[in-house]
Amino acid sequence: MNKKIIFSISILLSLIYICGCALSSREYTKQFIAMDTYMSLKAYGDFADNSLELAKTEINRLDLLLSAEKENSEISILNSTGYCKVSSDTATIIETALSLGNNTEGTINIAIYPIVELWGFPGRDYYVPKEAELEQLLPSTSLENIIFNKSTSEITLKDNAKLDLGAIAKGYTSDKVIEILKNNGVTSAIISLGQNVQTLGRKPDGSLWTVGIKNPDTDNKKLSTDDIIGTLSVENKAVISSGNYERFFISDGQKYHHIIDPDTGYPADTGLISVTIVSESGIVADALSTALFVMGKDKALDYWDSHRNDFDVVFIEENGNITITSGLQNTFNSKLPYSVAR
Ligand code: AMP
Ligand code: MG
Repeated sequence: MNKKIIFSISILLSLIYICGCALSSREYTKQFIAMDTYMSLKAYGDFADNSLELAKTEINRLDLLLSAEKENSEISILNSTGYCKVSSDTATIIETALSLGNNTEGTINIAIYPIVELWGFPGRDYYVPKEAELEQLLPSTSLENIIFNKSTSEITLKDNAKLDLGAIAKGYTSDKVIEILKNNGVTSAIISLGQNVQTLGRKPDGSLWTVGIKNPDTDNKKLSTDDIIGTLSVENKAVISSGNYERFFISDGQKYHHIIDPDTGYPADTGLISVTIVSESGIVADALSTALFVMGKDKALDYWDSHRNDFDVVFIEENGNITITSGLQNTFNSKLPYSVAR
Protein backbone atom coordinates (compact mmCIF):
# COMPACT_ATOMS: atom_id res chain seq x y z
CA MET A 1 0.00 0.00 0.00
CA ASN A 2 1.37 3.39 -0.79
CA LYS A 3 1.79 6.09 1.80
CA LYS A 4 -1.11 8.17 0.45
CA ILE A 5 -3.62 5.34 0.91
CA ILE A 6 -2.36 4.57 4.42
CA PHE A 7 -2.64 8.27 5.28
CA SER A 8 -6.23 8.47 3.93
CA ILE A 9 -7.29 5.34 5.83
CA SER A 10 -5.86 6.67 9.08
CA ILE A 11 -7.68 10.03 8.59
CA LEU A 12 -10.90 8.10 7.91
CA LEU A 13 -10.44 5.95 11.02
CA SER A 14 -9.81 9.05 13.16
CA LEU A 15 -12.97 10.66 11.82
CA ILE A 16 -15.00 7.53 12.55
CA TYR A 17 -13.51 7.47 16.04
CA ILE A 18 -14.28 11.17 16.68
CA CYS A 19 -17.85 10.83 15.35
CA GLY A 20 -18.28 7.65 17.35
CA CYS A 21 -17.27 9.42 20.54
CA ALA A 22 -19.52 12.36 19.81
CA LEU A 23 -22.38 9.99 19.18
CA SER A 24 -21.77 7.93 22.28
CA SER A 25 -21.92 10.98 24.56
CA ARG A 26 -25.02 12.48 22.97
CA GLU A 27 -27.52 13.74 25.54
CA TYR A 28 -31.17 12.65 25.60
CA THR A 29 -33.78 13.98 27.99
CA LYS A 30 -37.38 13.34 28.92
CA GLN A 31 -39.66 15.45 31.10
CA PHE A 32 -43.14 14.51 32.20
CA ILE A 33 -45.52 14.39 35.13
CA ALA A 34 -46.03 11.06 36.91
CA MET A 35 -46.58 9.97 40.51
CA ASP A 36 -48.02 13.41 41.15
CA THR A 37 -44.67 15.07 40.55
CA TYR A 38 -42.45 16.55 37.83
CA MET A 39 -39.93 14.06 36.49
CA SER A 40 -36.84 14.72 34.44
CA LEU A 41 -34.63 11.99 33.00
CA LYS A 42 -31.29 12.59 31.29
CA ALA A 43 -29.05 9.91 29.79
CA TYR A 44 -26.11 9.82 27.42
CA GLY A 45 -24.92 7.64 24.58
CA ASP A 46 -26.17 5.47 21.76
CA PHE A 47 -28.62 3.50 23.90
CA ALA A 48 -30.02 6.44 25.84
CA ASP A 49 -32.97 7.42 23.64
CA ASN A 50 -34.60 4.00 23.58
CA SER A 51 -33.74 3.34 27.25
CA LEU A 52 -35.42 6.54 28.40
CA GLU A 53 -38.58 5.54 26.56
CA LEU A 54 -38.51 2.19 28.39
CA ALA A 55 -37.90 4.01 31.67
CA LYS A 56 -40.90 6.30 31.16
CA THR A 57 -43.12 3.31 30.39
CA GLU A 58 -41.90 1.62 33.56
CA ILE A 59 -42.59 4.71 35.69
CA ASN A 60 -46.16 4.94 34.37
CA ARG A 61 -46.67 1.21 34.95
CA LEU A 62 -45.50 1.50 38.57
CA ASP A 63 -47.62 4.63 39.09
CA LEU A 64 -50.74 2.69 38.10
CA LEU A 65 -49.79 -0.10 40.48
CA LEU A 66 -48.70 1.82 43.54
CA SER A 67 -50.75 4.99 43.81
CA ALA A 68 -53.31 5.13 46.63
CA GLU A 69 -55.12 7.77 44.57
CA LYS A 70 -55.58 5.77 41.35
CA GLU A 71 -58.77 3.76 41.40
CA ASN A 72 -57.57 0.42 40.07
CA SER A 73 -54.08 0.34 41.57
CA GLU A 74 -53.15 -2.61 43.75
CA ILE A 75 -52.95 -0.26 46.71
CA SER A 76 -56.45 1.11 46.05
CA ILE A 77 -57.84 -2.43 45.77
CA LEU A 78 -56.13 -3.30 49.07
CA ASN A 79 -57.44 -0.15 50.72
CA SER A 80 -61.01 -0.63 49.58
CA THR A 81 -61.33 -4.42 50.01
CA GLY A 82 -58.71 -5.21 52.66
CA TYR A 83 -57.16 -7.92 50.49
CA CYS A 84 -55.00 -8.22 47.36
CA LYS A 85 -52.60 -10.73 45.85
CA VAL A 86 -49.99 -8.25 44.73
CA SER A 87 -47.31 -8.05 42.03
CA SER A 88 -43.68 -8.67 42.87
CA ASP A 89 -43.06 -4.88 42.73
CA THR A 90 -45.68 -4.12 45.37
CA ALA A 91 -44.57 -7.11 47.46
CA THR A 92 -40.93 -5.96 47.43
CA ILE A 93 -41.85 -2.42 48.44
CA ILE A 94 -44.14 -3.56 51.23
CA GLU A 95 -41.60 -6.04 52.53
CA THR A 96 -38.85 -3.39 52.57
CA ALA A 97 -41.17 -0.80 54.12
CA LEU A 98 -42.21 -3.18 56.90
CA SER A 99 -38.65 -4.15 57.63
CA LEU A 100 -37.44 -0.51 57.70
CA GLY A 101 -40.56 0.48 59.67
CA ASN A 102 -39.82 -2.08 62.35
CA ASN A 103 -36.17 -1.07 62.29
CA THR A 104 -36.90 2.64 62.83
CA GLU A 105 -39.48 2.37 65.64
CA GLY A 106 -42.28 2.85 63.14
CA THR A 107 -41.18 6.34 62.06
CA ILE A 108 -41.80 5.23 58.47
CA ASN A 109 -45.24 3.70 58.62
CA ILE A 110 -46.96 2.74 55.37
CA ALA A 111 -50.24 2.20 57.25
CA ILE A 112 -50.46 5.97 57.83
CA TYR A 113 -53.00 6.57 55.03
CA PRO A 114 -56.15 7.03 57.19
CA ILE A 115 -54.39 9.92 58.95
CA VAL A 116 -53.00 11.39 55.71
CA GLU A 117 -56.52 11.25 54.28
CA LEU A 118 -58.07 12.91 57.31
CA TRP A 119 -55.70 15.85 56.90
CA GLY A 120 -56.91 16.04 53.29
CA PHE A 121 -53.51 15.67 51.63
CA PRO A 122 -54.55 13.25 48.83
CA GLY A 123 -57.12 15.51 47.15
CA ARG A 124 -55.59 18.75 48.52
CA ASP A 125 -58.86 19.22 50.36
CA TYR A 126 -57.21 20.28 53.59
CA TYR A 127 -58.65 20.01 57.09
CA VAL A 128 -57.17 20.37 60.58
CA PRO A 129 -58.43 17.33 62.53
CA LYS A 130 -59.44 17.47 66.15
CA GLU A 131 -57.17 15.57 68.51
CA ALA A 132 -59.96 13.08 69.32
CA GLU A 133 -60.42 12.33 65.61
CA LEU A 134 -56.72 11.53 65.28
CA GLU A 135 -56.70 9.39 68.40
CA GLN A 136 -59.60 7.41 67.08
CA LEU A 137 -57.75 6.62 63.86
CA LEU A 138 -54.29 5.90 65.31
CA PRO A 139 -54.97 2.22 66.19
CA SER A 140 -55.76 1.47 62.53
CA THR A 141 -52.23 2.60 61.60
CA SER A 142 -50.44 -0.13 63.54
CA LEU A 143 -47.99 -1.98 61.26
CA GLU A 144 -49.35 -5.18 62.83
CA ASN A 145 -52.53 -4.63 60.84
CA ILE A 146 -50.63 -5.54 57.67
CA ILE A 147 -50.61 -9.31 57.24
CA PHE A 148 -48.10 -10.09 54.53
CA ASN A 149 -47.75 -13.61 53.23
CA LYS A 150 -44.39 -13.55 51.49
CA SER A 151 -44.69 -16.94 49.84
CA THR A 152 -48.01 -16.14 48.13
CA SER A 153 -47.66 -12.32 47.87
CA GLU A 154 -51.06 -12.00 49.52
CA ILE A 155 -51.74 -9.02 51.72
CA THR A 156 -54.61 -8.68 54.15
CA LEU A 157 -55.35 -5.50 56.06
CA LYS A 158 -56.98 -5.67 59.50
CA ASP A 159 -58.80 -3.02 61.52
CA ASN A 160 -59.64 -0.72 58.57
CA ALA A 161 -55.96 -0.21 57.83
CA LYS A 162 -55.08 1.55 54.57
CA LEU A 163 -51.69 1.80 52.90
CA ASP A 164 -49.78 4.77 51.52
CA LEU A 165 -46.51 4.05 49.68
CA GLY A 166 -45.85 7.76 49.07
CA ALA A 167 -42.78 7.77 51.31
CA ILE A 168 -41.01 4.94 49.51
CA ALA A 169 -42.48 4.27 46.03
CA LYS A 170 -40.42 6.88 44.18
CA GLY A 171 -37.21 5.48 45.67
CA TYR A 172 -38.11 2.00 44.44
CA THR A 173 -38.98 3.50 41.06
CA SER A 174 -35.69 5.33 40.71
CA ASP A 175 -33.83 2.08 41.47
CA LYS A 176 -35.85 0.38 38.73
CA VAL A 177 -35.16 3.18 36.23
CA ILE A 178 -31.42 3.01 36.87
CA GLU A 179 -31.57 -0.79 36.45
CA ILE A 180 -33.37 -0.43 33.10
CA LEU A 181 -30.88 2.15 31.84
CA LYS A 182 -27.95 -0.03 32.92
CA ASN A 183 -29.42 -3.21 31.40
CA ASN A 184 -29.87 -1.38 28.11
CA GLY A 185 -26.26 -0.26 27.86
CA VAL A 186 -26.42 3.24 29.37
CA THR A 187 -23.44 4.08 31.58
CA SER A 188 -24.11 7.76 32.31
CA ALA A 189 -27.44 9.17 33.50
CA ILE A 190 -29.14 11.38 36.07
CA ILE A 191 -32.82 11.16 36.87
CA SER A 192 -34.97 13.28 39.10
CA LEU A 193 -38.40 12.12 40.23
CA GLY A 194 -39.44 15.20 42.18
CA GLN A 195 -37.08 15.46 45.17
CA ASN A 196 -35.66 12.01 44.37
CA VAL A 197 -32.46 12.21 42.36
CA GLN A 198 -30.48 9.16 41.33
CA THR A 199 -27.30 8.99 39.28
CA LEU A 200 -25.72 6.30 37.14
CA GLY A 201 -21.95 6.36 36.68
CA ARG A 202 -20.33 9.72 36.04
CA LYS A 203 -20.92 12.50 33.55
CA PRO A 204 -19.69 11.66 30.04
CA ASP A 205 -16.60 13.86 30.61
CA GLY A 206 -15.64 11.68 33.59
CA SER A 207 -16.52 14.23 36.26
CA LEU A 208 -18.94 13.63 39.15
CA TRP A 209 -22.60 14.63 39.02
CA THR A 210 -23.53 17.74 40.98
CA VAL A 211 -26.85 17.47 42.82
CA GLY A 212 -28.25 20.59 44.47
CA ILE A 213 -29.97 20.47 47.86
CA LYS A 214 -33.05 22.65 47.71
CA ASN A 215 -33.28 25.49 50.19
CA PRO A 216 -36.13 24.35 52.45
CA ASP A 217 -36.31 27.61 54.37
CA THR A 218 -39.03 29.12 52.23
CA ASP A 219 -40.63 31.02 55.12
CA ASN A 220 -38.13 33.18 56.91
CA LYS A 221 -35.00 33.07 54.77
CA LYS A 222 -32.75 32.42 57.78
CA LEU A 223 -30.45 30.23 55.72
CA SER A 224 -30.00 31.97 52.42
CA THR A 225 -32.10 33.48 49.69
CA ASP A 226 -30.59 31.11 47.11
CA ASP A 227 -32.67 28.27 45.70
CA ILE A 228 -30.11 25.72 46.83
CA ILE A 229 -28.14 25.62 50.08
CA GLY A 230 -25.34 23.46 48.74
CA THR A 231 -24.42 20.68 46.36
CA LEU A 232 -23.31 17.07 46.54
CA SER A 233 -20.79 15.62 44.08
CA VAL A 234 -21.69 11.99 43.54
CA GLU A 235 -21.58 8.93 41.29
CA ASN A 236 -23.86 5.88 41.40
CA LYS A 237 -25.86 7.37 44.27
CA ALA A 238 -29.42 8.25 45.13
CA VAL A 239 -29.85 11.69 46.72
CA ILE A 240 -33.32 11.91 48.21
CA SER A 241 -34.86 14.68 50.31
CA SER A 242 -37.89 14.91 52.55
CA GLY A 243 -38.97 18.32 53.71
CA ASN A 244 -41.80 20.30 55.22
CA TYR A 245 -41.81 22.59 52.17
CA GLU A 246 -42.85 19.93 49.66
CA ARG A 247 -46.52 19.74 50.51
CA PHE A 248 -48.26 21.81 53.15
CA PHE A 249 -51.13 24.13 53.86
CA ILE A 250 -51.63 27.07 56.18
CA SER A 251 -54.64 27.40 58.43
CA ASP A 252 -55.05 30.21 60.99
CA GLY A 253 -51.43 31.18 60.40
CA GLN A 254 -50.17 27.69 61.26
CA LYS A 255 -48.27 25.58 58.73
CA TYR A 256 -49.28 21.90 58.46
CA HIS A 257 -46.99 19.73 56.33
CA HIS A 258 -47.33 16.21 54.89
CA ILE A 259 -44.82 14.18 56.92
CA ILE A 260 -46.77 12.71 59.79
CA ASP A 261 -45.44 11.51 63.12
CA PRO A 262 -47.18 8.11 63.39
CA ASP A 263 -47.14 8.35 67.20
CA THR A 264 -49.32 11.47 67.31
CA GLY A 265 -50.98 11.80 63.90
CA TYR A 266 -49.69 15.39 63.66
CA PRO A 267 -47.08 16.68 61.20
CA ALA A 268 -43.65 15.79 62.60
CA ASP A 269 -42.32 18.71 64.59
CA THR A 270 -38.71 18.06 65.57
CA GLY A 271 -37.01 21.23 64.41
CA LEU A 272 -35.92 19.66 61.11
CA ILE A 273 -37.10 21.23 57.87
CA SER A 274 -35.28 18.94 55.48
CA VAL A 275 -33.44 15.64 55.51
CA THR A 276 -31.41 14.47 52.52
CA ILE A 277 -30.19 10.88 52.36
CA VAL A 278 -27.31 9.79 50.13
CA SER A 279 -27.21 6.05 49.48
CA GLU A 280 -26.55 3.52 46.74
CA SER A 281 -30.12 2.35 47.16
CA GLY A 282 -33.03 4.57 46.12
CA ILE A 283 -35.60 2.66 48.12
CA VAL A 284 -33.51 2.87 51.32
CA ALA A 285 -32.79 6.57 50.76
CA ASP A 286 -36.47 7.37 50.21
CA ALA A 287 -37.72 5.38 53.20
CA LEU A 288 -35.04 6.82 55.47
CA SER A 289 -35.52 10.43 54.36
CA THR A 290 -39.04 10.20 55.75
CA ALA A 291 -38.10 8.12 58.81
CA LEU A 292 -35.20 10.36 59.88
CA PHE A 293 -37.32 13.47 59.36
CA VAL A 294 -39.83 12.04 61.85
CA MET A 295 -37.10 10.94 64.31
CA GLY A 296 -35.54 14.39 64.64
CA LYS A 297 -31.81 15.08 64.42
CA ASP A 298 -30.58 13.45 67.66
CA LYS A 299 -32.31 10.11 67.19
CA ALA A 300 -31.53 10.21 63.48
CA LEU A 301 -27.81 10.62 64.22
CA ASP A 302 -27.93 7.60 66.55
CA TYR A 303 -29.60 5.61 63.78
CA TRP A 304 -26.98 6.74 61.27
CA ASP A 305 -24.22 5.81 63.71
CA SER A 306 -25.33 2.18 63.69
CA HIS A 307 -25.88 2.09 59.88
CA ARG A 308 -23.11 4.37 58.65
CA ASN A 309 -22.02 2.05 55.84
CA ASP A 310 -25.46 2.21 54.26
CA PHE A 311 -26.09 5.94 53.94
CA ASP A 312 -25.15 9.53 54.78
CA VAL A 313 -27.33 12.52 55.65
CA VAL A 314 -27.64 16.29 55.30
CA PHE A 315 -29.89 17.75 58.01
CA ILE A 316 -31.29 21.27 57.81
CA GLU A 317 -32.97 22.70 60.88
CA GLU A 318 -35.53 25.44 61.37
CA ASN A 319 -32.90 27.51 63.18
CA GLY A 320 -30.70 27.50 60.06
CA ASN A 321 -28.19 24.88 61.27
CA ILE A 322 -26.84 22.51 58.65
CA THR A 323 -25.26 19.21 59.70
CA ILE A 324 -23.72 16.59 57.44
CA THR A 325 -22.57 13.10 58.41
CA SER A 326 -18.86 12.39 58.02
CA GLY A 327 -19.14 10.29 54.86
CA LEU A 328 -20.10 13.46 52.96
CA GLN A 329 -17.06 15.53 53.94
CA ASN A 330 -15.54 15.38 50.48
CA THR A 331 -18.91 15.33 48.74
CA PHE A 332 -20.81 18.30 50.19
CA ASN A 333 -20.07 21.85 49.02
CA SER A 334 -21.70 24.95 50.47
CA LYS A 335 -20.80 28.55 51.11
CA LEU A 336 -22.94 28.40 54.25
CA PRO A 337 -21.49 27.26 57.58
CA TYR A 338 -22.17 23.63 58.52
CA SER A 339 -21.04 21.06 61.05
CA VAL A 340 -19.92 17.49 60.55
CA ALA A 341 -21.25 14.63 62.69
CA ARG A 342 -18.66 11.91 63.23
P1 AMP B 1 -41.54 11.71 51.54
O1 AMP B 1 -41.72 12.93 50.72
O2 AMP B 1 -40.75 10.63 50.91
O3 AMP B 1 -41.02 12.03 52.91
O4 AMP B 1 -42.98 11.04 51.74
C1 AMP B 1 -44.04 11.76 52.30
C2 AMP B 1 -45.34 11.11 51.92
O5 AMP B 1 -45.45 9.83 52.56
C3 AMP B 1 -46.53 11.91 52.40
O6 AMP B 1 -47.01 12.73 51.39
C4 AMP B 1 -47.53 10.84 52.82
O7 AMP B 1 -48.26 10.40 51.69
C5 AMP B 1 -46.66 9.71 53.30
N1 AMP B 1 -46.30 9.79 54.72
C6 AMP B 1 -46.41 10.84 55.57
N2 AMP B 1 -45.90 10.54 56.78
C7 AMP B 1 -45.44 9.27 56.69
C8 AMP B 1 -44.79 8.39 57.61
N3 AMP B 1 -44.46 8.74 58.85
N4 AMP B 1 -44.48 7.15 57.16
C9 AMP B 1 -44.78 6.75 55.91
N5 AMP B 1 -45.39 7.53 55.01
C10 AMP B 1 -45.70 8.78 55.38
MG1 MG C 1 -39.32 9.27 51.54
